[in-house]
Amino acid sequence: MAFVNPASVADRYDVLVVGSGAAGGHAAYTLAMGGAKVLMIEAGRNYDPVAETPMFQTNAAAPLRGSATPDKPFGFYDATVGGGWEVPGEPYTNASAEEGRQFRWWRSRMLGGRTNHWSRHALRNGPYDFKPRSRDGLGFDWPISYEDVAPYYDKVEMLIGVCGTNEGLENTPDSPKGCLLPPPKARIGELLARQRGRMLGIPVIPIRRAVLTRPLDHRAIPARLHPGNAGAQRILAEDMRNRAACFWATRCERGCSIRANYQSTTVHIPPALATGNLDILANAMAREVTVDSAGRAAGVGYIDKATGLEHRVSARVIVLAASACETVRLLLNSKSALFPNGLANSSGLVGKCIMDTVGASWGARSRSLRTSPPTTRTGRGACMCTRRGGSTRSRRRRSSALRAATTSNSRAEGPCPGAAWASGTTQAAARATASGSRRTPAATTAPSSGSREGAR
Ligand SMILES: Cc1cc2nc3c(=O)[nH]c(=O)nc-3n(C[C@H](O)[C@H](O)[C@H](O)COP(=O)(O)OP(=O)(O)OC[C@H]3O[C@@H](n4cnc5c(N)ncnc54)[C@H](O)[C@@H]3O)c2cc1C
Ligand code: SF4
Repeated sequence: MAFVNPASVADRYDVLVVGSGAAGGHAAYTLAMGGAKVLMIEAGRNYDPVAETPMFQTNAAAPLRGSATPDKPFGFYDATVGGGWEVPGEPYTNASAEEGRQFRWWRSRMLGGRTNHWSRHALRNGPYDFKPRSRDGLGFDWPISYEDVAPYYDKVEMLIGVCGTNEGLENTPDSPKGCLLPPPKARIGELLARQRGRMLGIPVIPIRRAVLTRPLDHRAIPARLHPGNAGAQRILAEDMRNRAACFWATRCERGCSIRANYQSTTVHIPPALATGNLDILANAMAREVTVDSAGRAAGVGYIDKATGLEHRVSARVIVLAASACETVRLLLNSKSALFPNGLANSSGLVGKCIMDTVGASWGARSRSLRTSPPTTRTGRGACMCTRRGGSTRSRRRRSSALRAATTSNSRAEGPCPGAAWASGTTQAAARATASGSRRTPAATTAPSSGSREGAR
């Protein structure tokens, strides 16, 4: 089994997975390693991260010196070979024309989805994030708790490779022994931020990132992840041996051809294909989930983007992992006599109160760093995570609507992408962050205290 087209696709599979990003990649990996026959349907094109990743090119050699264009929203070398703020043939509208009330929907259309260029910040949600209403009366409690999900975070961290530290901080869960790789060395800016943070009582710690600071333990991890499954252990051990450690010289957003960071295309899909249990159908846009006479999901109707023709394929189980909003759209499109409002929508709430990942950026200039000597220290930017306690009063100042879509603490980024295997509207909502409203210690470093402080 491997890459297929509408003519060579099998009639029936055990499981059909729509989407190949963090959620689809993880679902396909787990199922294929477990022995299920899986078809992955992906709307974007096939993408080979080893052959197609422009890791070493310089901006000087690129048109417009590599700057962003509508078809390359994050710069000429951005790993996004398909997708962006606008996707040809896939328009969307905004409910409000008012600036500031618009939702700009960023979508990936390529094998591996957004995992090819995400920033690799891989945090866990904490206990408060699952039970915000119980804690302060705002938002909604999830029907599951952190304890329910924690064992899966452990597995994901071991599989994809996450570096970071255990700090014992409130609502920033530690990982069990053997899950984390050591963090990279802090660089001068991070040392300075930590020093200033200490003065303000704000912990500044290495961010958790899905980047290999050293090779994964291919002797121990496969047996922990696939107990009793010798075939899966062998495949994973071989695959882990082929992932190199990071050499801290290139930009992860362009993708990583040495497989040092996590992408579905470098971590989930290769071992899943090696089982012989996974077929991948690229350039195929799922249009609806079909149901049998008993009302059970039975297959998917999809459009072959090369010909525009519609096809159907059936499976015992359908996994929708097409990203938060697109998954909802598919459910709503899946109307039938039994389900006139779309699938899983007896409440009428599908498509309401959803949120995809949001992004924001901030910057600060430090006078101390301006006068510091050039440094060649190795390391990787963004190896910093701040966390404020946040009084109940300050939390209450946020609207409950916002709370429903954000995490209750002040973490710098969203949770571990692999956790998205349980994709759905609540998971997507919890993934979103409100980083735009935050201040960080780096923004407080403007008063200069001399160049040597940062180097200490
Ligand atoms: C620039 C950027 C940086 C980010 N950085 C971080 C970070 O540091 N930490 C973090 O936790 N998160 C980060 N995120 C968010 C993170 O990447 C996403 O939350 C996560 O990858 C979503 O995974 P997914 O599998 O749900 O969706 P996606 O990765 O979007 O995958 C969905 C796939 O489904 C396919 N698809 C969609 N519709 C259909 C259809 N109808 N039929 C067939 N296929 C379909 C798409 O083409 C796509 O490949 C970042 C996102 C961006 C854009
Ligand atoms: S993980 Fe390391 S080697 Fe890979 S792209 Fe990122 S910085 Fe470069």
